[in-house]
Amino acid sequence: MDRRKFLQRGLAGAAGAGLISACGGGAGEESAAGPAVHTRKSVTWRLASSFPRSLDTIYGAAEVLADRVEAMSEGKFRIRCYPAGEIVPAVQVMDAAQQGTVQIGHTASYYFIGKNQALAFDCCVPFGMTSRQQAAWLIEGGGLELMRGVFADFGLTTFPAGNTGTQMGGWFNREINGPGDLKGLRMRIPGLGGQVMDRLGATVQLLAGGEIYPALERGAIDATEWVGPYDDEKLGFHKVAKYYYYPGWWEPGPSLSYHVNLAAWAELPVAYQEIFATAASESATVMQARYDQRNPAALARLLAEGVEMRPFSDDLMRAARDASFEMLEEHASADATYRKIYQSWKQARSDAYRWFGTAELAYSRFAFGDS
Ligand code: CA
Repeated sequence: MDRRKFLQRGLAGAAGAGLISACGGGAGEESAAGPAVHTRKSVTWRLASSFPRSLDTIYGAAEVLADRVEAMSEGKFRIRCYPAGEIVPAVQVMDAAQQGTVQIGHTASYYFIGKNQALAFDCCVPFGMTSRQQAAWLIEGGGLELMRGVFADFGLTTFPAGNTGTQMGGWFNREINGPGDLKGLRMRIPGLGGQVMDRLGATVQLLAGGEIYPALERGAIDATEWVGPYDDEKLGFHKVAKYYYYPGWWEPGPSLSYHVNLAAWAELPVAYQEIFATAASESATVMQARYDQRNPAALARLLAEGVEMRPFSDDLMRAARDASFEMLEEHASADATYRKIYQSWKQARSDAYRWFGTAELAYSRFAFGDS
């Protein structure tokens, strides 16, 4: 029996734990012992992350992946994780995975829209979907299949790696009462959110994580976005900007990714492919849970420090939404691949909004505001 058929039988017949024992050659089928032993070869992969170790929720997802892969393979399949800058800089991990310098790039796909604008849909776009909605589209709505078609052009495939949940709008040194207050505002905001801010009249700055605090402190910028309370607190923005606005409409549910080199994937024993996919899925669940568990306490600490938290006004949100949709439509009219993915994503978003606008919204509105 060939290895693939054997393993598919193992999967169908015995579920997760059974698969491991089947790999050990003890599945009760003498003929399986040979190929099963073959799948137990030792494999070591390298993972280059776009994130520093200090972002322990995001970077921690890669460590969960590595730990689970090693445990499930009984130590035979190992992944060594390297934070941003150790093998390649943060914005080169896709290239490193593509070239096979590493087998996995751990990143946010929207960092790479310079290669293909459609890569943004693997992560998020302004006024896109929330964490659960994005996961539903990717995992069950055909999104991942569409995205993998784009990644295949780069010799890569992609797996969801976790989500921050809806981000905060960030730190401002003055009040922002309407869209007019964005004119001339010097804000650090990368990617598509930055492009929309630019359309709204802001002066967009691109600064790496470590450069933001000093720029805000000396008044070289007026505002910055980052992630949410737990991550923002570590960078200390509350010490140099008084106002903490929400929501980060440019990142309502950014989904991180593992970019896996396709040639390396093809060489991986099928059992290890299953282990990888399962561990990736668990790491994504753990990452979201960590954010959801740690953000409330971090927010309470920030508020105790005197931070003033404000929602963006409805007219600012409407202006930003209009500019965002205009931008997405422009990208869609310029590129057929983008258009195809955009149409699937847009339909999913519209369906999700309709459903989430009923029970989920009514409950949230009633319960959250009252706690
Ligand atoms: Ca952000």
